[in-house]
Amino acid sequence: MRNNQDRLGAVPGGENPPIQQPQQAEQPLQFVTPTEFVELPSRGKFYPEGHPLHNVETIEIRHMTAKDEDILTSTALLRKGIAIDRLLRNVLVDRSVNIADLLVGDKNALILATRVTGYGPDYEASVSCPSCTSSVNFEFDLNQCHITPHDRHKEHDIVLTGDNTFIIHVDKLDLDVEVRLLTSKDEIEMLQLSERKRKKKLPESHLTDQLRRIIVSVSGNIDRHYIESFIQAMPALDSRKLRSIYQNVVPNVNMDQEFVCSECSYEGEVSVPFGANFFWPKR
Ligand SMILES: [Zn+2]
Repeated sequence: MRNNQDRLGAVPGGENPPIQQPQQAEQPLQFVTPTEFVELPSRGKFYPEGHPLHNVETIEIRHMTAKDEDILTSTALLRKGIAIDRLLRNVLVDRSVNIADLLVGDKNALILATRVTGYGPDYEASVSCPSCTSSVNFEFDLNQCHITPHDRHKEHDIVLTGDNTFIIHVDKLDLDVEVRLLTSKDEIEMLQLSERKRKKKLPESHLTDQLRRIIVSVSGNIDRHYIESFIQAMPALDSRKLRSIYQNVVPNVNMDQEFVCSECSYEGEVSVPFGANFFWPKR
């Protein structure tokens, strides 16, 4: 990330300021919010041709302002998800980018960078210790989070297709499963689905809901009934393998950081939680 020094005097997302007329000479200078460039985990590689982010490696954001904070006043989970989309729409300098189309990993990188521009890199969150399970407060340094290489599928011998999907082999059922990357729109729809289930007091089914969304075909078959019966019959071992490989190949931000438990002195890596005070820090 680097600060953009060249935009002073330019209106964010707009035209250059009009040439000042003599009678306006006494007016105060226009305030300009600084901007910076955020590296996209996908490096634009996973967007189809014709998409505004196709092969785009970095994207410019405006630093968060007090006005942007107003958007974040909501507390309900779903409303929080929508508020974050609205916030990102506000801070992106290029208005042609549709937030709904952003790949989840790229969106995470933008959320992280925006948070750092608004509240700095220090982030105190409650962590459940992997060893003693106590809930302890820990201060993370968000500047330590880094984006993953975009071609990790090569390390894992996973085929990337021309449609930007991955082919993952599951051993128990001995089948090839084609999976796709999720977008911000998928994420919001999954939140809406779990919200509907919660209201109707239906059991949670987060894992299978996610599989339903990422699986494009099974053994080349794209029929949704066929895919559904595969999901219903999928052994837990295959499901775990699929999800673990998926997480390891999808371009994203690596949120793992060293953690030391204040209760039992356990030391190890934990994932920085997107907790309640990520955008809503206790002050
Ligand atoms: Zn502990």
